[in-house]
Formats: sequence, structure tokens, C-alpha cells
Amino acid sequence: MRRTGRRKSTNVVNRKGEGRQGLGGLGGGGGNFIIFMLLRLVMTRFGLAGIAILVVGYFALQAMGLNPLQMLSGGGQGAPAGQSAASQADLCESGSETEQFMCVVLASTEDVWDGEFTRRGSTYPQPELHIFSGGVSAGACGYASSAVGPFYCPATNALYLDTEFFTELSRRFGAPGDFAQAYVVAHEVGHHIQNVSGTLSDVQRAKQGLTGPGQNALQVKVELQADCLAGVWAHHENDLAGLDDGDIDEALTAANAIGDDTLQRQAGQRPMPDSFTHGTSAQRMEWFQRGYRSGEMEACDTFDANAL
Ligand SMILES: [Zn+2]
Repeated sequence: MRRTGRRKSTNVVNRKGEGRQGLGGLGGGGGNFIIFMLLRLVMTRFGLAGIAILVVGYFALQAMGLNPLQMLSGGGQGAPAGQSAASQADLCESGSETEQFMCVVLASTEDVWDGEFTRRGSTYPQPELHIFSGGVSAGACGYASSAVGPFYCPATNALYLDTEFFTELSRRFGAPGDFAQAYVVAHEVGHHIQNVSGTLSDVQRAKQGLTGPGQNALQVKVELQADCLAGVWAHHENDLAGLDDGDIDEALTAANAIGDDTLQRQAGQRPMPDSFTHGTSAQRMEWFQRGYRSGEMEACDTFDANAL
């Protein structure tokens, strides 16, 4: 995928360093002051033993996935995105090659979906992409560690990505290449499209009253539709800037590598269709290609499809 001379998105937010920050790293100055006063109080009242108990408690809370510093500063939801963005380096200007590429990919999805929404007489509300390392607090979606992989949070209208995932995608899943990375971003943007079109909330409602397998079957349709929408984006990216030989293969290899059946087989389990939530490798490749060939959102109706 071409990256030189391309527009970079202004919606990339640098959240790196928050996942494993020390005492001094808290976003708001007020939080630091509260922590300082608290430490001083504990030290004068209880001495070093008191500090030791605080430290143990701090790590215990962290182990449970909570951020004690954020709880102290009264935020709970973390610092507003703008605040951390203002205090950290602009990844689109001075980030790594991969980070700067993310800025180009996100900008391309904005251009494509701006166009598609305008064509349908509406406006595309652009999502943010939060690049983090280690872990991140994603508003109402809670705290997430890098282990969960890239994700989209409907409550914050933002995508969350630790670019270390691409190392794993390349080494562990055998899906290297810039377009494999672009596909991952485009898939999460697909979830954003589903959010603003109301599909995600419709599915959420429909899931109530269904048992596990029924819920999983619906979730598979959500995931395959996001793959198809990633394909629609790839179709238009090809129109905009021309894809390189092998780009589509890279996306298909990634879709193949991270299908549920492949992941389960690698985890030493026999694939069990009822527990699939992303679709099989074959299904993921098929729906990406449907979107790519047609370039039409209408080709992505996984909910009315007779067979997936
Ligand atoms: Zn997904």
C-alpha cells in the first residue's frame, strides 16, 4: 500500500506509556498532588510499614485490572483523550514507521467512508485511533491489556491498538506485510461503521433472550460483516492510490490466520462451530473478498445471507 505523499489522519491519539506507568505518570496534575499528600500522611502516621502496605495494595489492584491511580484521581474513566494527546508526542509526525503508517491507513478509511456516507446523504463521524502499549483504559469499555488484541469501543467511538500486535501477527500467525496491518485497522473501522449505523445496538438487543450458541452465531455475523467492510475499503483504496501486488494476499493471509478455527486448532482444541465468534478462516476470507470485489456496503449483509 502506497504511503509516501499520503494524508495522515488527525484522529490518532498517543496513549503509549499509560499501561505500565509509574507514580509520576498520571495525566492530571491534581492526581499527583493527592498521591503526594496521601503518601506523606501514611509515612508520618504509619512509617515505612504503611508505605509497604500501600505498595502491596497498589499491585494487588493492578493485578485485578484496576488502575488505583485513576481511582485516586477520581477519574475512573481515565484522562480525556485530548489531555494525553496534548502531553505526548504526535505519532503521525515522530512515531515509528508502523505508527506513521497507521496514520495513513486511518486517513484512507476516513476518505473512503466520508465518500460513501456522503453518497448516501449522510455524514461520516470519524473515529479516533488510540495507539497504546501494554494496556489502556477505554472509557466505558473498561481497562484492556494488549493481550486482548486490537479492538473497537462503541462507547468512545474509538479503535484501540498496540502495534506490538503486528509482531505477533507476523511471527506467530505468519501474516506479515503492511496490508495485513491495514486490514486489521479496516476491520476495526468496520465495527465503527456498524456502531454508527445502529447494527451493533440492534445485535446487542437481539442477543438478549438468546442462549450462548445463538449469541455466538450473531457475533460471527458481526465479525464477518466487519471483514466485508474492510474489503469495501480495500476496493476504494485501490481506486484512490492503487494497491501493490500481494496486498490482497496479505490481507487474506491475515484473515485466514486469525479465523476462530485456526486459533482454536493452534490452541490444541478441535474446532467447535458453536463457540466461533469471528467465523472460520474460509468465511473471513470469503467476506473480505465479497466486499473487495463489489466495493459496495450492500454486499456485506451477513445478517440476511442464506449461508455464511
Ligand atoms: Zn472484530
